[in-house]
Amino acid sequence: MNYQVDTRGYYGDFGGAFIPEILYPNIEELKAKYLDIMQSPDFLAEFDSLLKDYVGRPTPLYFAKRMSEKYQTKVYLKREDLNHTGAHKINNTIGQILLAKRLGKQKIIAETGAGQHGVATATVCALMDIECIVYMGKIDMARQRPNVERMRLLGAKVVPATSGSQTLKDATNEAMRHWINHPTDTHYIIGSVVGPHPYPDMVARFQSVISEEMKAQLLEKTGSENPDYVIACVGGGSNAMGAFYHYLDRPEVRLIAVEAAGKGVDTGESAATTQLGKPGVLHGSKTILMQTSDGQVVEPYSISAGLDYPGIGPAHAHLFASGRAEFMSVTDRDAMEAGRLLCRTEGIIPAIESSHALAVFEQRKFAPDDVVVLNLSGRGDKDLQTYIDYEFE
Ligand SMILES: *Cc1c(COP(=O)(O)O)cnc(C)c1O
Repeated sequence: MNYQVDTRGYYGDFGGAFIPEILYPNIEELKAKYLDIMQSPDFLAEFDSLLKDYVGRPTPLYFAKRMSEKYQTKVYLKREDLNHTGAHKINNTIGQILLAKRLGKQKIIAETGAGQHGVATATVCALMDIECIVYMGKIDMARQRPNVERMRLLGAKVVPATSGSQTLKDATNEAMRHWINHPTDTHYIIGSVVGPHPYPDMVARFQSVISEEMKAQLLEKTGSENPDYVIACVGGGSNAMGAFYHYLDRPEVRLIAVEAAGKGVDTGESAATTQLGKPGVLHGSKTILMQTSDGQVVEPYSISAGLDYPGIGPAHAHLFASGRAEFMSVTDRDAMEAGRLLCRTEGIIPAIESSHALAVFEQRKFAPDDVVVLNLSGRGDKDLQTYIDYEFE
């Protein structure tokens, strides 16, 4: 079984590039050039140096002693929460801005839901002195005021998407519309392993630094590059793909992807895509998505903005369909409890997205000798108000 993208841009039955005719030249240009650019020595030197000195990589692989005692297994946390801007998203935006420069693009557009990807994009545009426009649903702008202010402080223009439900999918539509109208001078930075080929592969490669570091760090700490399990939360799936990437072809390493069940898989307020979804086309690729019987995208729900997405990237759809990864889902309530537990056992306040992955330890038992690596995708500063307002039991 092959888990990498094939020459047609597919992962098994999923992937491809379902795009309007007018964007065909952009996607073709990306497809023709992305690998050569990403593998060129001058790109690699600049990427590595920025990851080290600007982002703060390598991020630690931390043996969580008290968590390990509590759950009677060996828990390691990959500390993506310690990256500049607070999550793994900057690995991808650094990579894409360097690529955009080499493609000769003068302008960057991005879409954002909660604002995390928008902030990571505005950050690298400031760093590279490139004009940045971020599309964001009008309702999301009101809900995520601090991130709107961060983006503006960083010099980005934040444009409200006022159509439809005024949330992420409408912001995506607006960004697409902009790209269609300015196809030659603009690069569109997509924030997860979603979108038309080659985006899912490109983003996966930028995020694969996570598992590349894990291999070396595990070898040093445990004597083996391989853990028994890797656990990560999945919105679109970029932090999970980064954490899985170098283990995809090592079946002895088991992969666990964690989706947001929201208020419960059967409540109508959920984002557990693999449990509720069916194959279809979303944001330019064939994947699994939540949809009505006549193919309308269903509005997802999760307490965590980063997991509140109606699909998953096509590579994850393939990992699910082939059984290579096990997909689990975690409710708002279980995630919030697991997040608070990490605060109190390890002194780390996790992003609520990452808390979903942490809740797996309550749902399933691991053996005392198992080495379990959990990708802690981000820190919880942005979620402070949600933790404060939440009514814990
Ligand atoms: C955006 C985000 C996610 C979800 O995105 P993926 O592409 O699935 O990784 C998860 N965790 C944090 C902290 C995020 O900011």
